[in-house]
Amino acid sequence: MTNTMQAVVFHAPGDVRVERVPVPRCGEAEMLVQVDACAVCGSDLKSSKVGNPRIKPPLTMGHEFTGIIRQIGPAAKAGNLAVGDRVVMATTVSCGQCEYCRRGWPNVCADLAPMGFSYPGGMAEFVVIPERALVNGHVIAVPPGLPAEHAALAEPVSCAVNCVENCGVREGDTVVVLGAGPMGLINVCVARGMGAAKIILSEVSPRRLAMAEPFGCDILVNPDKQDLAAIVKDATGGIGADVAIVAAPAAAPQEQAVHLVRKRGSVCLFASLPPGKHILQMDSRAIHYNELRVIGTSDSTPAHVATAVAMLASGRIPADKIATHILPLSEIHQAFDLMQRGEALRVVLRP
Ligand SMILES: [Zn+2]
Ligand SMILES: [Zn+2]
Repeated sequence: MTNTMQAVVFHAPGDVRVERVPVPRCGEAEMLVQVDACAVCGSDLKSSKVGNPRIKPPLTMGHEFTGIIRQIGPAAKAGNLAVGDRVVMATTVSCGQCEYCRRGWPNVCADLAPMGFSYPGGMAEFVVIPERALVNGHVIAVPPGLPAEHAALAEPVSCAVNCVENCGVREGDTVVVLGAGPMGLINVCVARGMGAAKIILSEVSPRRLAMAEPFGCDILVNPDKQDLAAIVKDATGGIGADVAIVAAPAAAPQEQAVHLVRKRGSVCLFASLPPGKHILQMDSRAIHYNELRVIGTSDSTPAHVATAVAMLASGRIPADKIATHILPLSEIHQAFDLMQRGEALRVVLRP
């Protein structure tokens, strides 16, 4: 092992560099992982441009990584994991101590510390998994048959697993997904993988709708040109969908979603709205009289990541359609461009 490695380092908004940095040292209670693949998240693109209050530069970016354990510190809580095992992480590291962690909701921990934001991330040849992640069970094994470029999708898939579980999607359900960005399509895949019989996908961008074609939705709708509510009614014997997942970061689809579900249906606000644009005008009477559940969902727990890995490994998630581009780590700026132009769903970088 040489003592320097290639890494994608955030220096300042608009200043992300591919450079050589020292290989991180594996502490007593830590684990050193050789990165196999790291997917580029929308949040990486965003923080590359505007920064993030958690990032203290210079910092190695990336949280959607998978790799091989190369070293385990003598005091590390590694459980069943051994050197040579392939792993992914629930990358938003929880504290294990707060009220929310104690209740089994580590994704809403009061003291979250995400990889690539609070800790150096996985867009590098090596990454150190911090003690707190090991103590709180954030490292999940990857089975042998799952290719690295697909295992790297475990984190975004796990966020959709959280959402679909939160919505209570059941075998045979009709699900409306609003927004066909990468996370909308990943929600489509997870809803299908968890038994949704009919999926209606709504998206205003014709280009995104065209990119959604291969994902096998039952009905694709452009709500600018078609009457989404009428189409949903028509497809559900007049009663509305069982579940609506709003994966578009806009108020209008969040407000509309309560009119797309049947009585006792669920609406999940998956996408977050930007500060200043986050106050809704929502039909309280629809929620009240129809006994709707309007729920939020954020991030994921280690259990969701384990489910995501199992779904990816079993082929229930079409990972090859999600990982549209595989590039060398040094091509991070090309990856950002592809995402910016809406040409890529997930770019996966390989060191
Ligand atoms: Zn992500
Ligand atoms: Zn906590």
